[in-house]
Amino acid sequence: MAWCWQLCSKSHSCLVDWAAAIRVAALDCAEEKNQDVCRTYDIHFYPTFRYFRAFTKEFTAGENFKGPDRELRTVRQTMIDFLQNHTEGTRPPACPPLDPIQPSDILSLMDSHSGQYHAVMFESNGSYVGREVILDLIPYDNIVVSRALDRDKAFLGTLGISSVPSCYLIYPNGSHGLVNVAKLYTADLESGLHYLLRVELAAHRSLAGAQLKTFRDFMTVIAKLFPGRPPVKKLLETLQEWLANLPLDKIPYNAILDLVNNKMRISGIFLTSHIKWVGCQGSRLELRGYPCSLWKLFHTLTVQASTHPEALVGTGFEDDPQAVLQTIRRYIHTFFGCKECGEHFEEMAKESLNSVKTPDQAVLWLWRKHNMVNSRLAGHLSEDPKFPKVPWPTPDLCPACHEEIKGLDSWNEDQVLVFLKQHYSRDNLVDTYSVDQGSPDDWGALGREQEEGEGLNPSGKSRGHQDAESLRPPHKLGPRTDLSKSLHHRLDLKLQSPQGLQALEEAKAAVPFLGVGFSSLDMSLCVVLYVASSLFLMIMYFFFRVRSKRWKVRLYHPAV
Ligand SMILES: Cc1cc2nc3c(=O)[nH]c(=O)nc-3n(C[C@H](O)[C@H](O)[C@H](O)COP(=O)(O)OP(=O)(O)OC[C@H]3O[C@@H](n4cnc5c(N)ncnc54)[C@H](O)[C@@H]3O)c2cc1C
Repeated sequence: MAWCWQLCSKSHSCLVDWAAAIRVAALDCAEEKNQDVCRTYDIHFYPTFRYFRAFTKEFTAGENFKGPDRELRTVRQTMIDFLQNHTEGTRPPACPPLDPIQPSDILSLMDSHSGQYHAVMFESNGSYVGREVILDLIPYDNIVVSRALDRDKAFLGTLGISSVPSCYLIYPNGSHGLVNVAKLYTADLESGLHYLLRVELAAHRSLAGAQLKTFRDFMTVIAKLFPGRPPVKKLLETLQEWLANLPLDKIPYNAILDLVNNKMRISGIFLTSHIKWVGCQGSRLELRGYPCSLWKLFHTLTVQASTHPEALVGTGFEDDPQAVLQTIRRYIHTFFGCKECGEHFEEMAKESLNSVKTPDQAVLWLWRKHNMVNSRLAGHLSEDPKFPKVPWPTPDLCPACHEEIKGLDSWNEDQVLVFLKQHYSRDNLVDTYSVDQGSPDDWGALGREQEEGEGLNPSGKSRGHQDAESLRPPHKLGPRTDLSKSLHHRLDLKLQSPQGLQALEEAKAAVPFLGVGFSSLDMSLCVVLYVASSLFLMIMYFFFRVRSKRWKVRLYHPAV
């Protein structure tokens, strides 16, 4: 008998996580050896879904639960209906409660300080989102999920919930707040910039010619359009001005790194050296992360260029609606660690980037191309099963973006543009989870912080990852197992090339010297200053010795 315990699709996570509540098996009735079983259970059409209640002792052919179609979404919902159809005594004991809880229950949860995370999904009566989340999170043993209905509008108002579905999180210490999944997190963008400048770029020992121009232009676009926190913006602007004014056609990477690490202790500039993925956190260490943050950065840049065109005035890019995309294209082609990604992106750009005539079209072009990448990668090894690659934004994020034309789902691009401009705007950026920048006095102190070893730890795993891991089921926290074919592997390979490794080593060597944070340039300057001041002291010494001898001669021989 061929039993299959995994039922996955492109758009939904696997049903294996539900196994404690309901187990899924598949039987191939086309196989001759299964025909007896199929006849016994009266199976005539394929696929047929049969449901068997928990604790059934007598023989039964099961129950047919029919949904309107055979889509996995419908199957999941039908399984939920089936589970809820159990009476209290026959319900599978490991199945978490699926019925809604009341506002009074939520208030007592807030007071209970249970030492656990408790998520409450607020939703409408007909919604399945809450129940799907409850079942999806069964393997996670330190978070409990419940659902509540949106009937008591006044109660929802006191929690700050203006639309459903919404997720409200009660932390182990009793603090609580709304989780906004459609937010853009500063932590993702800043961690991405950190990786870009301190890791990806470190694969290049020096930048010259076309490479240097690409990096210069890319930094100009980022410095002018990045909508993040002031110290990060100031760092990007300082780097951009320095690159623009440097009369050199070759720049060693270490010089860039010194500036990024603020070796000059310029006040008010700062870029985290911690990686903290929030909206880009994968369900496994090797998934999502940097490439996700890069997409978010690129979308943010095209949206900013369209909503704040004045930011590019004086850069030479202001009259070119393709400028931001062309700069991104060159950056990806030249620097992005995943060569294959760069080649795919280049193909898409060659095909249609020239058709972009306005900044709004640039926003939509990148959105369309990102969706093409999503559909190409659906089901790929690099896909995170918890974040399936589907056409984005999904109907729950932006219902107005979707419309039905002649029975087919299609995009309303005007609405997509409105949504993208809102989603990737400064107003949608939240600083929660970003590394605390301390007071402006601390902003020059990154060099010190790095020397104390607070960046990536030797395993390459950041504290951010460790924080997030506390929410993962223990069995999923293994070492980087499936890396051979993943995108991260390709990024790693680039860094492991002899050139990349050497540059990385040099970059590392430049940071801690005698544990104080001097680069080789600083040290040479120190030696020169030391020699110069010693010479000066010796000259002064001989000068005063000669003069004092002359005074003595005058004193004893006034006539001299
Ligand atoms: C330019 C580029 C090209 C790439 N090419 C390849 C490739 O050829 N092969 C490969 O294996 N990997 C490629 N990658 C990596 C891949 O696209 C994903 O970034 C990676 O697999 C992580 O996926 P993710 O689930 O975090 O979502 P991502 O695709 O990285 O998306 C990040 C976030 O952007 C938002 N988003 C999703 N779709 C859209 C959209 N259409 N418009 C706007 N926002 C959206 C969502 O909030 C999503 O969570 C590429 C990455 C980049 C930056």
